[in-house]
Amino acid sequence: FVSLFFTLFVTIIIVYVIRKYNKKLENLANNDLLTNINNRRVFNSKLEHSILIHQRHNQSLNLLFLDIDNFKDINDKFGHAIGDKVLVRIASILKNNIRKSDLLARWGGEEFVIAYLNSSFEDSLIATEKLKNLIETDYILKDLTKSSVTASFGLTSLKKVDTLNDLINRADLAMYESKNSGKNRITIKN
Ligand code: GH3
Ligand code: MG
Ligand code: MG
Repeated sequence: FVSLFFTLFVTIIIVYVIRKYNKKLENLANNDLLTNINNRRVFNSKLEHSILIHQRHNQSLNLLFLDIDNFKDINDKFGHAIGDKVLVRIASILKNNIRKSDLLARWGGEEFVIAYLNSSFEDSLIATEKLKNLIETDYILKDLTKSSVTASFGLTSLKKVDTLNDLINRADLAMYESKNSGKNRITIKN
């Protein structure tokens, strides 16, 4: 009886530890280490699926690309650790101010993407204006950088014929238009 009890006990512990490590591995594979939001790989996979569903049901899907303005200057002036904190704070602003059902990811260094699902273009634009304003006026960001942090945004809507790359490229191009026309603005490309 004692040995049976012991075997059972050890088995439970092993299962618990394996589950815990599986969760950790899953988190490492899906999320960006610094900001703990989805990475590009998972975003693409979720977006690919959403595109198919939204195109099939004629539902609206809007994609936002955003790139922090003059981020290199923040690193240069205040150091990499402060730059990291700015990224973490911006990820948290984005995460806390979109719908739980929307998709969010860190696309690259200081670039983020959001897919607004089942949201009209007007509502997605309003949501984007709100995010832009929240970033620009955020006290934690101001405290970290001693000035306003801004970003350049590109917004586009899904077309019936779009592939994932079409959609992302359009949002990226729109974001670059924002950069080229003076930064800290939203450009729409449809
Ligand atoms: P622009 O307004 O044109 O976007 O200029 P920028 O300075 O924001 O863009 P640039 O591409 O010149 O610089 C991006 C910088 O982001 C360079 C890179 O060192 C920094 N960066 C990328 N990933 C990280 C990170 O994880 N942490 C920190 N602290 N910096 C990062
Ligand atoms: Mg960039
Ligand atoms: Mg930048």
